[in-house]
Amino acid sequence: MSFSNLVNDLSYRNRGDSNNTDRTVDTRQTRSQYSRAQSYVSTAATSVSISGDISSQLHGGYSHPLARAWQAERQLTKSMLIYPVFITDNPDEETSIPSLPNQKRIGLNRLVPFLTPLVAKGLKSVMLFGVPLHPSAKDTLGTAADDPQGPVISGIRLLRRAFPQLFITCDVCLCEYTSHGHCGILHEDGSLNNSLSVDRVSDVAIAYAQAGAHCVAPSDMNDGRIRAIKLKLIEAGIAHRIVLMSYSAKFSGCLYGPFRDAAGSIPSFGDRKCYQLPPGGRGLARRAIVRDIAEGADIIMVKPATQYLDIISDAKEIGKDLPIAAYHVSGEYAMIHAAAQAGVFDLKTMAFEATEGVLRAGASIVVSYFTPEFLDWLET
Ligand SMILES: [Zn+2]
Repeated sequence: MSFSNLVNDLSYRNRGDSNNTDRTVDTRQTRSQYSRAQSYVSTAATSVSISGDISSQLHGGYSHPLARAWQAERQLTKSMLIYPVFITDNPDEETSIPSLPNQKRIGLNRLVPFLTPLVAKGLKSVMLFGVPLHPSAKDTLGTAADDPQGPVISGIRLLRRAFPQLFITCDVCLCEYTSHGHCGILHEDGSLNNSLSVDRVSDVAIAYAQAGAHCVAPSDMNDGRIRAIKLKLIEAGIAHRIVLMSYSAKFSGCLYGPFRDAAGSIPSFGDRKCYQLPPGGRGLARRAIVRDIAEGADIIMVKPATQYLDIISDAKEIGKDLPIAAYHVSGEYAMIHAAAQAGVFDLKTMAFEATEGVLRAGASIVVSYFTPEFLDWLET
């Protein structure tokens, strides 16, 4: 019964109950009947709720913007964000990356001016990727990865001096530096030589840590590299001041395209399906997370993010005592830009929705190309 029908019904019954046979009811009496009817309806509605299910009443809990923010277990803040930065070996480079809107490859001479306004807006952390552009920079062993004069090690030193408060994370991999574009050293048949790759990747990680990186993040997906890096950090006497972030659950797929354009790391043959995880491999991801925690990872990362929210949630459940990071990768970022450009949705609204979904799943750290925008959009 609708509210107005109920009022009419009650008014009719009220008239019947009274012995008033005079049909000319004065205004005052009508108001009084109406008021009683309203009161009856209100009581009836409440009693219906109480006798039914009081937990049906939710709207009050998120009626105010602040109350809505409180509904989130983790609220997005600037300190959660890591900004990926591509540093080339051409010192004066500052080149836009067409497939990755608003992102650039930056040479060492341009790095500090590029980051200064972002640091002023509250940028807390960067993740460095080296992009060697000189053809001679690549070989089968990825020798240039830990070149003391190379873009990453030089970049670490430069940024430590220029921005003492900035937390510097380094992606650790060989694919930007190998002539074949794979994430390790290969057997003659083209498959990964795991033990040589782990040796090499862990050496590179130690070189970045010794140069001053606060965090090393191996993304190569070779088995056992977390343990090898942790042991070498201990041997080098620097394990106590270096965060080891493992790309534990890094899935293969088509979302890395713009990144490979940016970093110049497209494999020259084959693909990475034998070391990155298959998209359906939830159990495999859980095993990799369990393994990397046991091997000494301080942070577990899931990559990509939006398509793998269940894996982020698994990582948080398995790694209850560790921070969980998610990499909102280049393809996710480029898709949002493309869809916003096509008028599908508003860019800012979707950037928040995608990122808040990642936090809701369990991450408290997000590697995001939207970091510069979030520094403008967020107050803290
Ligand atoms: Zn790689």
